[in-house]
Amino acid sequence: MSFEEHKHIILECVSCGLCQSNCPIYKQTNLESNSAKGKMSILYALLQGWLDWDEVGERMYECTTCKNCEATCLSGLDIASVIEATREELVKRGYGHAVSEELAKNLREVHNPFGEDATQRERLKKLAEG
Ligand code: SF4
Ligand code: SF4
Repeated sequence: MSFEEHKHIILECVSCGLCQSNCPIYKQTNLESNSAKGKMSILYALLQGWLDWDEVGERMYECTTCKNCEATCLSGLDIASVIEATREELVKRGYGHAVSEELAKNLREVHNPFGEDATQRERLKKLAEG
């Protein structure tokens, strides 16, 4: 589903913060903007026109999409799905994550995500087989 189809979920977040304690990224960084509550607030600001697309990517990529927040969300919001749809929209708008862009470029150009020479596959396979 598209970002457009997920807008209603962003608007349904009541900013209660019950999701924070469960979020591994929030626990790691101690930044409210990294919890589901923070991410929905950022996306709400985007919908209101207070932020632009180039300002929201960093936090959207700092999510494991583990769905832990959904276990405590009283509104039962599908946060991971919103994050994935937002990332899709970010890529469409040219704001994909630098590492993902690099992996995709390597796959397109040399058919190996790490940019390694694909012609070496057989040799490496034989080495692994001993
Ligand atoms: S899905 Fe994202 S926001 Fe929700 S708990 Fe996991 S890392 Fe945190
Ligand atoms: S628990 Fe749900 S409604 Fe409450 S802040 Fe988190 S995402 Fe929003």
